[in-house]
Amino acid sequence: MPSTHKVPVTVAYGDGIGPEIMEATLAILEAAGAEIAPEVIEVGEKVYKSGVAGGIHDSAWATLRSTRVFLKAPITTPQGGGYKSLNVTTRTALGLYANVRPNLAFAPFVRTQHPGLDVVIIRENEEDLYTGIEYRQTNSMYETLKLVSRPGCEKIIRYAFAYARAYNRKKVTCFSKDNIMKMTDGLFHKVFDEIGAEYPDIEKDHWIIDIGSALLADQPERFDVIVTLNLYGDIISDIAAQVAGSVGMGGSANIGEQCAMFEAIHGSAPDIAGKGIANPSGLLNAAIMMLVHIGQGETAARVHNAWLKTIEDGIHTGDIYKEGLSRERVGTRAFSEAVVARL
Ligand code: NAD
Repeated sequence: MPSTHKVPVTVAYGDGIGPEIMEATLAILEAAGAEIAPEVIEVGEKVYKSGVAGGIHDSAWATLRSTRVFLKAPITTPQGGGYKSLNVTTRTALGLYANVRPNLAFAPFVRTQHPGLDVVIIRENEEDLYTGIEYRQTNSMYETLKLVSRPGCEKIIRYAFAYARAYNRKKVTCFSKDNIMKMTDGLFHKVFDEIGAEYPDIEKDHWIIDIGSALLADQPERFDVIVTLNLYGDIISDIAAQVAGSVGMGGSANIGEQCAMFEAIHGSAPDIAGKGIANPSGLLNAAIMMLVHIGQGETAARVHNAWLKTIEDGIHTGDIYKEGLSRERVGTRAFSEAVVARL
């Protein structure tokens, strides 16, 4: 039985590299004395294959609704057919409207062309093209619905400005494609201007998503907080993470009124699954955000500092290892042991 002061947290080991990086992350949290009581649920491929539509048991929903905090490893979703993404279902079912994805360069310890990169992407998480509503119109024409609501825009844009103020950020940039999608993206931009006017202390600007993405890849230093629609946010946060050093480093928080879910930004990486070489940093950084969320900021800071020291000491997994810059190339477990040794 967990002791009463431990915060119950739902944990899913996920698919592909998920179990490896979750094991590494939980080992670090335990060594750091995080006051959490993991309640493990099974989700993803195995559950689908056992015949449960949706990839999640009813009992797992009950666990999620009672703990209201979810640490989730990546889940595999088939491309071009098969079952619906459980990630998307979880975000909408739990009302996780804000996806917060910080990206930071760790130069000179991790190679990047952009040592000044420090950008937080705040992605709308429930609407847009991710509703999964698709139809076949004719034999050769398919249709998908892009849904954008005023309440949805208001919630995420207000969140972005409140985040900027709380974290002492200077500027919020909106990315949309309102020159083409004048009603849906147009609404997002309009609400950005309206709510932005309530924050005179924060600088604001807007870029059309295509040139905005190009600038993010080429001159990321010019961005501070970016707020955008669901699909654009998904794409640009992988770009920003990769430009910062590796997609394997980025963690994210999915925030709702009642629940919150924390996960790496990357997927289940089937190409390296089972090899013990995945970088657990993305999930660990998500877990650090979770500790802050549940009021364990001191433990979060300890874990973060130990992780930074590991990176600074050149103990690197293959995705960020560079001859002449890194000191030791390690696998997932050795990386987590190195973090534990620096706690
Ligand atoms: P991916 O992020 O899994 O992998 C892209 C590339 O980055 C691969 O070469 C992979 O080896 C590398 N990579 C990713 N994470 C890494 C890590 N921690 N350490 C080292 N290298 C890492 O993207 P994908 O291949 O497009 O997707 C694979 C599966 O993951 C798909 O089924 C997709 O639907 C799913 N996915 C899940 C989530 C989620 O659970 N939130 C997010 C994105 C993708």
